[in-house]
Amino acid sequence: MTALRTGDTIGILGGGQLGRMLAMGAAQLGLQTLIFAPEEESPAAQVAAGCIRADYTDLDALSEFAACCQAVTFEFENVPKTSLEVLVGKVPLRPGIMALEKTQDRLIEKRFLEGLGLSVAPYRPVDTLNDLTDAFDALGRDAILKTRRFGYDGKGQVNLKRGSGDCAQAWSAVAPAPSVLEARVPFLCEVSAIVARGKDGEAVVYDVPQNTHSGGILQTSSVGSFATTQLSPSVYDEARTAAVAVAEGLDHVGVLAVEFFVLDSDSGQTLIVNEVAPRVHNTGHWTLDACAISQFENHIRAVAGWPLGATQRHSDAMMTNLIGEDIAQAQAALAEPQNAVHVYGKTEVRPGRKLGHLTRLSSLTQSAL
Ligand code: AMP
Repeated sequence: MTALRTGDTIGILGGGQLGRMLAMGAAQLGLQTLIFAPEEESPAAQVAAGCIRADYTDLDALSEFAACCQAVTFEFENVPKTSLEVLVGKVPLRPGIMALEKTQDRLIEKRFLEGLGLSVAPYRPVDTLNDLTDAFDALGRDAILKTRRFGYDGKGQVNLKRGSGDCAQAWSAVAPAPSVLEARVPFLCEVSAIVARGKDGEAVVYDVPQNTHSGGILQTSSVGSFATTQLSPSVYDEARTAAVAVAEGLDHVGVLAVEFFVLDSDSGQTLIVNEVAPRVHNTGHWTLDACAISQFENHIRAVAGWPLGATQRHSDAMMTNLIGEDIAQAQAALAEPQNAVHVYGKTEVRPGRKLGHLTRLSSLTQSAL
């Protein structure tokens, strides 16, 4: 693969905050970015060299986009596969289509993970109400019905409780979308591993944050002294090793995140994979302020075919998402010198919408990861 040159343009499919932070990372390295997004308001376009505003299915616009870029990447995994197929052969696509094929669909993703020898929560494919009733009986515990595609931040999910779970009602909430029923697992905590992999197969991994969610949406990611659950070092090692295996299995180029549940059993702490995101990830936002080289810069370096940078932390950190009305806290947070404040430039404040984040920093402690 030929490496990009300073001044070259990376195309980014998607115009949200991840695209914005990628564009800022690219600018730091002297690369231009061109955003492709259908929305009128694009946090990424505000900081990029240019933007093509068109639907992901607009083939002419995609061809024009390809002609303007030396490489193309994406900031969200629900880009239609057919859109990427239009780009293949016209411009290098990093990561490639396989990263999307294996992660856009929860069922395909679970089978891929099992194929790598990784554990996932007990699950059953569900295509009809009958399937759902059978699956709920077979799993024999509280469960979550999740659509196979287009779910994020808890969207496309319905909880089913043992005894009171109403399968017909749950099915009507997602039908006729092909889905999976997943057993609810009693986790001790949630962690994630963020890996950056270059075209040559070199992989670097960040420290593993502990994450909290509410209503399916990430609230906080913590590393070092901010991480409050005592986890054995082997759990952190296992998470990092699994993330590298997933990146290798996908022949991934760029950043990829794997989210895990940590279970506590008689035989010790074990991990099961919740899901894979073949892109920069919200649980890695703290790397902007607590590491020399952030996940965004490392993704851009990988896409450009440039050497990857160090993932070591220089600080302990806790990232808090500013969701909906929380964004009002951003101004006050500036008064606290240890806070790094990030505001995404979105004008409409809606419940559940990620509008910014804060990363609180403190001195590096060696004791915890
Ligand atoms: P997801 O969109 O699948 O990542 O789910 C969002 C959040 O919902 C997760 O980070 C967990 O906090 C919770 N969740 C999802 N699936 C399960 C599960 N099988 N068991 C327990 N909690 C879950």
